[in-house]
Amino acid sequence: MKAKKNIGRREFIKNSIFGALSGGVYLNSLNRTTIIKNFSIEKESNKKNKEENVEYRKLGNIDYNASVVGFGAMLTNDPSVLERALDMGINYIDTARSYKGGNSEIMVGKVIKKRRKDVFLTTKNKQRSMRTIVNDAEESLKALGTDYIDCFLAHDLTSKEQAVNEDIMSALEKLKKEGKARYIGISAHSSEAEIIDAMINSKFYDLLTVKYNYRSDEKLIKAVERANKAGIAVVAMKVMGGKWWTYIITWRRGYTGHKMEDLNPCQAALKWVINDKNIATTISSITSFQQLDENFSIMGSKFSWSDRKTLDKFARLTDKLYCRMCGECSGVCPENVNIPDIMRFLMYADGYGELELGRDSYKSLSFNERASKCIECNHCVVPCVNKLNIKERMLRAHSKLA
Ligand code: SF4
Ligand code: SF4
Repeated sequence: MKAKKNIGRREFIKNSIFGALSGGVYLNSLNRTTIIKNFSIEKESNKKNKEENVEYRKLGNIDYNASVVGFGAMLTNDPSVLERALDMGINYIDTARSYKGGNSEIMVGKVIKKRRKDVFLTTKNKQRSMRTIVNDAEESLKALGTDYIDCFLAHDLTSKEQAVNEDIMSALEKLKKEGKARYIGISAHSSEAEIIDAMINSKFYDLLTVKYNYRSDEKLIKAVERANKAGIAVVAMKVMGGKWWTYIITWRRGYTGHKMEDLNPCQAALKWVINDKNIATTISSITSFQQLDENFSIMGSKFSWSDRKTLDKFARLTDKLYCRMCGECSGVCPENVNIPDIMRFLMYADGYGELELGRDSYKSLSFNERASKCIECNHCVVPCVNKLNIKERMLRAHSKLA
């Protein structure tokens, strides 16, 4: 697929009925039936125009042009949302063995059954031994109903040592040699810069999926630039910076950030990422037609001064809530509370509005790692480099997720 010339968002909106629905504000007043009805009319025009409306970028040294708005399937329940995304020209799908307890891969597999060659499919697992990585990858192939993954990733690595771990690399190499994975990569939520440099030096990996958003620091931004220069495809996840949108509207009734220009903070955040040319594609988790529309509509538009203003305002409001997952507090609690992971699970619940995911993730921690110990703890000795109140956050997480 060739990279296409972009058209402006406004022009796109003029050109499609779907665009008319995407005025940039949340479409809470439109019910699902209305949206589906409009989509069936709009579907025809999309068939004709879809590639002109989508911006594609090359995936590093991989010979494939991916839509810069990809499809993160972690939270998707409704397969018709994914179907429609593919109809619109989105061609990059990210899932994982663990998402939705295995059901995410099954859902994706059903949707791509008749259009396998139209998509770049990635999945990943958190196993760490050669045998378990390969076994889980076999399970993924079965669930996805395919005999190859375009890129298979070792999921959620946390250190540079893991990036060059013999077991992990041997398993990925085996999958590649057997044709079960065409390319191989890593996903990381923490220690990203160190992991990126280890990846570059190893000359082993094709793709990196990394937490990347307007709150990312200079160290990570520079590392991503190095990865891109080295030909590693950089795929951005957690692009909304924790989202927090619904939470803030509920919590701060006076918040009016969504009235600035015509984009909400989530769209502005996605735009920030896409405007970084070191990023090949993004995998925001898409759960609804509305969100698909919002993400899709920003392709081809520049990150503007008013987007910056929207994000600055939103960042100030959410600063005391957002854990940057820097990992600096990892292993510091004398009671072994797993602070970074618990912060992430709380973000699933509060930020994304995915309470079940937050609870399931919290339950996956051993009892020793949970925040129950914080209830009896008189004085939290763990400092947060970003000034979050760790004890308060841990107590909230435990009361909400346990
Ligand atoms: S709680 Fe603070 S120190 Fe710990 S990972 Fe989050 S931002 Fe970093
Ligand atoms: S309050 Fe802080 S030091 Fe105490 S158990 Fe919780 S995380 Fe650890």
